[in-house]
Amino acid sequence: MTNQLLNTYFPAPRQSFFCSQCGSTIHRCIPDGDTRERDVCNNCGAIHYQNPRMVVGTIPILDNRILLCRRAIKPKYNTWTLPAGFMELGESSEECAIRETFEETGIRVKIKNLFTIIDVPKVEQLHLFYLANASNLKFDLGNESLEARFYEECEIPWKELSFHTVIITISQFFKDRRLGIFNMHHYSVNSK
Ligand SMILES: [Zn+2]
Repeated sequence: MTNQLLNTYFPAPRQSFFCSQCGSTIHRCIPDGDTRERDVCNNCGAIHYQNPRMVVGTIPILDNRILLCRRAIKPKYNTWTLPAGFMELGESSEECAIRETFEETGIRVKIKNLFTIIDVPKVEQLHLFYLANASNLKFDLGNESLEARFYEECEIPWKELSFHTVIITISQFFKDRRLGIFNMHHYSVNSK
């Protein structure tokens, strides 16, 4: 299923001041053969490309319930979210999903399948959420979570959820569960 709300959006590169290759100053220009502004080193000529960041998480499932955690960090301090975070260099999206879930809750998960792919171009991010089975019940909260617990559908704190992409993913999860089939869903939204 595709739900396209957007868009064409061409932000300037994120601000940086020095070349990460040689430490010299940089300037902003459209390099020959390119179509967008880039940061280019005044000394070595390195072109510093910037790309969207990947945010990957899980919907950890236990029986009829899903796991949410209450954020101990900004933004959206003290709101509930699915475990998720920025993908690191050298790891796969599944590895990121498993790691973030463990770091934020202490819960180990077995990944099932990719469930939502959500473009958020205005914040230069792509969010992925995997369905996953929780395989232990021992909470061990990291410093990014105040609390974690499994919720039944009727208990979900809809008004206290942290991000648009989390609301979309959880809503879609319960919708698919009622239909008895979990498909993969693509959305594009204006804010995370
Ligand atoms: Zn340089």
